[in-house]
Amino acid sequence: MKTIISVDFDARFQNRPPWSSFGKSQFDVSPIVNFVERFQQPVTVFAREDIETIRDFGTNHFYDLVNSIRSLAPIEIGWHPHVFDGQNAIKEEDVLLSELIKIYNQSQFVQQCKLVRIGACQSGNLIMRFLADNFDIDSSAMSRCTRKDSLRWYDWSETQGNIYYPSVFDYKILGDVSHDILEIPITTLDVFAPYDEFPKRRILNPSIRASIFQKSVADSKESLSSLDCLVVACHAEELEPGYFNDLYFYGLDNFFDNLIFLEATFDCKYTSFHNMHNSF
Ligand SMILES: [Zn+2]
Repeated sequence: MKTIISVDFDARFQNRPPWSSFGKSQFDVSPIVNFVERFQQPVTVFAREDIETIRDFGTNHFYDLVNSIRSLAPIEIGWHPHVFDGQNAIKEEDVLLSELIKIYNQSQFVQQCKLVRIGACQSGNLIMRFLADNFDIDSSAMSRCTRKDSLRWYDWSETQGNIYYPSVFDYKILGDVSHDILEIPITTLDVFAPYDEFPKRRILNPSIRASIFQKSVADSKESLSSLDCLVVACHAEELEPGYFNDLYFYGLDNFFDNLIFLEATFDCKYTSFHNMHNSF
């Protein structure tokens, strides 16, 4: 099974503006360095570049950090913008799109990048058109998931887990008339957290506690086996030990425990988004 490991590099900042309150000096690339040095397989890192990062760090800051460690392992870099309305998710697609265009016009990294994952999995028909005009691959889809509240605003309810060319009329599905961009969705599965009343569709993320992750994967083995590829997704800060709760257990030991289980279950062959795109 072809498997992509993707790390969203927005550690400590995701969805928590203003991030200056978290301390800029805290931010560094070391969790990803530790991971790729141990993993020694292709890894995709989605680096933040948006109005906040450009304002606080200048352009190409996160890209440069990831680019500086490319000698350690085969690292593919994608664009990861987070666009907020103060503390909240932007619900109006045209507003979000105009913000994305502003970032695109300012950033050399973004203009050269062919791979994108919109922060908080947001999208829409206009946004997909913009992405198709400028990128080869999108991995914003969180298949079969919908969330519309103050923090998150996305709808991938009709999107299954497989790779597709998005319909120009409905970005969530394959169409007769489709955009020239490949959507490679983040893999999701039912996960039963201790505090859940019912299992919830969640991202295939090895930062989930090993006992819960491995049971979820085993329970979904048949449906996951039918996918074109597995797209594992996590955040950089989850690669560092320290934090845990009833569902997550951060750090490389738990992470690799789960990756080894995934490999044993699906015979994973690690690859990149660009390789998937070229072979599709
Ligand atoms: Zn993010």
